Amino acid sequence: MKVLVLGAGVVGVASAWYLAKAGHDVTVIDRQPAAGLETSFANGGQVSPCHAEPWANPSTPKTALKWMGREDAPLAFRWQRWDPALWAWGMRFLLNCTAARARINTDRTLRVAIYSRACLQSLRAETGIDYDQKTLGILHVYRDPHSFEHAVAASDLMTRLGLVRQVRSADEALALEPALAAVHAELAGAIFTPGDESGDAHRFTQNLARLCAEKGVAFHYGTSILGLEMEAGRLAAVATDKGRLRADAFVMALGSWSPKLARQVGLALPIYPAKGYSATVAVTDPAKAPRIAITDDEHKLVYSRLGDRLRCAGTAELAGWNLQMSPARAAIVTGQSRALFPGAGDFDKADLWCGLRPVTPDSVPILGRTRIDNLFLNTGHGTLGWTMSCGSGRVLADLISGRPPDIDMSGLGLERFALA
Ligand SMILES: Cc1cc2nc3c(=O)[nH]c(=O)nc-3n(C[C@H](O)[C@H](O)[C@H](O)COP(=O)(O)OP(=O)(O)OC[C@H]3O[C@@H](n4cnc5c(N)ncnc54)[C@H](O)[C@@H]3O)c2cc1C
Repeated sequence: MKVLVLGAGVVGVASAWYLAKAGHDVTVIDRQPAAGLETSFANGGQVSPCHAEPWANPSTPKTALKWMGREDAPLAFRWQRWDPALWAWGMRFLLNCTAARARINTDRTLRVAIYSRACLQSLRAETGIDYDQKTLGILHVYRDPHSFEHAVAASDLMTRLGLVRQVRSADEALALEPALAAVHAELAGAIFTPGDESGDAHRFTQNLARLCAEKGVAFHYGTSILGLEMEAGRLAAVATDKGRLRADAFVMALGSWSPKLARQVGLALPIYPAKGYSATVAVTDPAKAPRIAITDDEHKLVYSRLGDRLRCAGTAELAGWNLQMSPARAAIVTGQSRALFPGAGDFDKADLWCGLRPVTPDSVPILGRTRIDNLFLNTGHGTLGWTMSCGSGRVLADLISGRPPDIDMSGLGLERFALA
């Protein structure tokens, strides 16, 4: 079958890989000159099923109110903007802020994330792909005792759902990662997920695109998709600035830009962009930079060691499709990173970046069929697109090939938003 993948981020390229392996004739289109240059470019690097807890949970509205108006808040809602998409998204988000919904959404995300981690491991074993990966687990550190207690309770749920999570004291956390010495005395405790990983999503995407090309996948870079053309109730072609491309099946993997094109064929995707920042620092003193991937709960920042670089990333700002860099928001990342790992590198010389996470109100990606028979969605991966890329690509390829996916797909499709 001829399949067109729209978007060459980590999700689109992973889809192309599994589709090519299933024997399809695959073409990928992207407006950028190469793969992985938008949101998949400099993310936090963590392959982290341990972060499956959704943003929408019972404590979020109170926390968001506390942070309101603070430029240094980890999560900034710009409610003052008159943006109907933000308000509609926000209402759905609030409906998901109950304990029952949070449990359901954790289960759905974890289902994809754990499967995806296994798919990544198999892909790595099969291809030998290199992307500065580390398989040492993720250590989530807490300063606030209440947040730590909450995390221990969530740990029980996630353990029941199949994730190995180990509760650690501050001393045990330091023994695991000596580079935490500067904050050891402030720590209430930590949770270690030994099965989680980290690596450079951009390098992965580019190297996987190369492997795809060796399998015969065609990449049309520098090609902007302008429209979707229907014929007799099916998607017939995409219109681009370089002409029309026809196919038998289409996979939409356009990250935060998916809703804008989907709207043309009457599909309303509740995806809103959440801008985040990263800082990448050359490690000058390896003893002071973490080897294990770290998550700092209080500041909602993640750290991954990518070879001789340290990637620090986080913060979220709901302020539209806007990639303007705010020095104040970037400084949250560099300032907190310097405080956590003083002397690891020169944080004033960090490479700064920002990207738009494609976030759904329930933090679960949108995967699978649509009411347009030959249009499939692989989008809305939010904070965990790198984590869920391989599994999402694999299940999409299975669906298109008419094979039952390895995981239960219930609650992962667009149809769930008809109900909430
Ligand atoms: C600060 C930050 C930290 C993060 N940390 C992590 C982390 O540690 N772990 C994790 O799992 N995830 C993390 N994420 C999330 C992750 O990066 C995203 O979920 C993921 O990159 C989304 O991939 P994607 O392929 O869906 O989107 P993208 O990478 O944005 O790809 C979409 C592609 O579509 C193309 N496109 C869009 N519109 C058009 C058009 N009209 N025509 C042609 N091409 C088009 C774009 O050029 C782009 O290449 C983080 C994100 C941010 C911002």
